Amino acid sequence: MMTATKLYVPMTQPDRDAPAQGAAVDAVGSPAAGKPPGLPNLPARLRDTLTRWRAIGAQHRSLAAEFRQENLRRLRYMACVIVPLNIIHVGVFGRADVAALGQVAAWRSGVLVSHLCMAVAMAVLGLLAHALLTRWRSTAGERAVLLAVLVVSLGFAGLLGVVDQWVTPSITPVLVGCLGVALVFLIRPVLALALYGVAGGVIAWALGLTQHDPAVLLSNRVNTLTGVMMGAALAILLWHKSGANTLLRRELQASNLRLEQQQAELQRLVTLDPLTGLINRREFERLLRLELIRAKRAAMPTTLVAIDLDHFKRVNDEFGHPAGDVLLQQVGQRLLSLLRPYDVLARYGGEEFMLLLPGTDPAAALAAADKLRVALLQPFSGDKRCLTISASLGAVTTRASTADFEQLYELADQALYRAKQLGRNRVEMAAAPV
Ligand code: GH3
Ligand code: MG
Ligand code: MG
Repeated sequence: MMTATKLYVPMTQPDRDAPAQGAAVDAVGSPAAGKPPGLPNLPARLRDTLTRWRAIGAQHRSLAAEFRQENLRRLRYMACVIVPLNIIHVGVFGRADVAALGQVAAWRSGVLVSHLCMAVAMAVLGLLAHALLTRWRSTAGERAVLLAVLVVSLGFAGLLGVVDQWVTPSITPVLVGCLGVALVFLIRPVLALALYGVAGGVIAWALGLTQHDPAVLLSNRVNTLTGVMMGAALAILLWHKSGANTLLRRELQASNLRLEQQQAELQRLVTLDPLTGLINRREFERLLRLELIRAKRAAMPTTLVAIDLDHFKRVNDEFGHPAGDVLLQQVGQRLLSLLRPYDVLARYGGEEFMLLLPGTDPAAALAAADKLRVALLQPFSGDKRCLTISASLGAVTTRASTADFEQLYELADQALYRAKQLGRNRVEMAAAPV
């Protein structure tokens, strides 16, 4: 609760202890030290108050749309409760009572008509609220329907209270109506003050039409004013509490989103190579270990291919390091474009790539590796001219029973070394590990 209250304080609120901006200098530009201590700096305070009011106003506006939707949902729900209640009243008071005379007969008719009107009004407003919530999008429509339900509800409570005066000095409907409206709907403080103010004045006046005992009338008028003041105070309190909760929830959602984004960014930094966007050595080794376990369990072969670009140093020397960087990116993309979706390609470091071909036997591995070698021979478009490179590849395929990461990596590396020794631009297969 502490945090919620704190959050509702505008963010722009200046530090109360710090001097307000511009307040330390008086009209002739000298520091305001000459002022007697303890005298409030009124313009600065006024600015401070205005800033806070503006911030609160902005917060209210930002809450209004969400609260309108919430109010429409509440109205739809309340219509389902109140309309049947009205109909029950109409049924009860509609039964002919031949004994009723004079004021009692007027009271019966008044209650009947009030409930009948309320049933029709709430049914119409409930249907409009449903339409606004489901298909009809209109801010003006939402405002109009919500204003109407507030006016109708307070009016109904007042009417019943006035009609009741024919037979009883009680003003229960007025009190229940004032508090009920404040409890059910989220009403903007300014609107709450205006509505309850007008309702209090009108009801207090109208009580005089049906209540002719001066003492009872005075008591009921005072009670009516107490009821509307309690209603307005409750409405304002609930609006502020709901506002604070909503702002807190929004803040929580925003910080959750930020946290998720930071987590995704962290994950990206930890698993991806920043230059090529391929996965990095750490992530590759994690996936390779997993794949080896899976391959062993499924009794499937798995192939590991080490790829090293030939004489890459010369590319850097001849065309510059940035051109070398671009070439590394292009090599990564070209290799990726030739692989199956579940093959795993990583930049292992420098100009060396590592490839995992799940479920691939030696013959298929040799064919796949050679396809990559041939593809890399096609020129790459550089900044000003085409670059041509070649690559040496060393591959090893596990037998289902053997699945040791270190051993596999060493065998692929040895095969790659042999490819370099035998003149580069070729694929060498290592014997399957025993
Ligand atoms: P070999 O055929 O024996 O593999 O020769 P090589 O020149 O490719 O291999 P060597 O290990 O002698 O040199 C690797 C070169 O790759 C040297 C280094 O500048 C370059 N290199 C490594 N990482 C990067 C990089 O991130 N960007 C660029 N532009 N060059 C890199
Ligand atoms: Mg190399
Ligand atoms: Mg190398």
